[in-house]
Amino acid sequence: MSFRALKVTQNDDGSITGDVAQINDADLPEGGEVLVDVDYSNLNYKDGLCMTGGGRLVRDYPHIPGVDMVGTVAESSDDRYTPGDKVVVTGWRYGEIWWGGYAQRTRVKADWCVPLAEGLTPRQAMSLGTAGLTATLAIMALENHGLTPDKGPGKGDVLVTGAAGGVGSIAVAMLAHRGYSVAAVTGRPETAEYLTSLGASKIVPREELAEATTRPMESALWAGCIDNVGGASLSRLIGQMDYGASVAAVGNASGIKIETTVLPFLLRGVNLLGIDSVMQPYDNRIQAWKNAAAWMPFDKLDDVVTEARLEDMMDYAQAILKGQIKGRVLVNPNT
Ligand code: NDP
Repeated sequence: MSFRALKVTQNDDGSITGDVAQINDADLPEGGEVLVDVDYSNLNYKDGLCMTGGGRLVRDYPHIPGVDMVGTVAESSDDRYTPGDKVVVTGWRYGEIWWGGYAQRTRVKADWCVPLAEGLTPRQAMSLGTAGLTATLAIMALENHGLTPDKGPGKGDVLVTGAAGGVGSIAVAMLAHRGYSVAAVTGRPETAEYLTSLGASKIVPREELAEATTRPMESALWAGCIDNVGGASLSRLIGQMDYGASVAAVGNASGIKIETTVLPFLLRGVNLLGIDSVMQPYDNRIQAWKNAAAWMPFDKLDDVVTEARLEDMMDYAQAILKGQIKGRVLVNPNT
């Protein structure tokens, strides 16, 4: 069968370009047991890197990006899936070293799939996508380490950095929906109304955390944190956590280096929890998707999501790498 896909190519001068092209089933990577008709994919920071050659994530060109997708099984040689089943794929270098979901069809390994969680529509699942899965895993990690909506541990709000981005927006909405008091850190003051509508009770300007400090610990301010940006602000906020509080480190949109001391860990019992949505075992992914379905206030989804076509994605790649995307961009390859 012939279908549309966003094909990203490296040119002779090293530049990366992308165009929507017509390809065939036979062009898809061999070795995947499940052929899927894609309903939706979406835009993640990693997709931005894959569409621009950033981070050397893509090894071979031409490449089809899209690190996650939801769709309908068309063919399967694995007895866990039969034609007509709805499946979700996230992670496992899908869309990085394996052709991804920016296409009307994709071939994947059966182990990368999970059945679409009960109660979720395909549109809802990919509006959440990797960002929603990651926000859910971060909340699960914080709660496993003692965070409760009644402000335990400590008295502070739960802080979300990079709040107007994909992971951040969903984290704010889910935390507020679960009864937490949420402080949203953003470098874009114009998103304050949006973040408040998602449930943030306080907006913290990015500059407040970006200023360097020589003090290893400051006043305890936060009961927990989901950090999407890394770098200077993560270095600083570790020293602002309540006693026994945890930071779920999700991303590095502002940088990979952190500078801190052992003191917040020794004297305040702060936990730094790494979140990796890619290497999640099957059972955790199933549980996380169930939680995501229960924790996301879907009445807010239309505010969070912008729908895009394959043709728009090369421009969106530039925008997400510049930190200009608000919420989530849902990709519909069938329009
Ligand atoms: P987005 O680009 O949608 O959001 C990132 C947000 O970070 C921006 O919206 C902006 O928020 C803030 N930001 C961007 N640049 C800077 C900067 N220089 N300094 C401070 N803040 C900045 O990306 P996603 O939400 O999709 O991903 C967020 C991060 O999480 C990325 O690093 C991504 O790679 C990572 N990630 C990790 C996963 C995992 O499994 N660990 C899974 C998914 C994503 P604002 O405008 O509000 O300030």
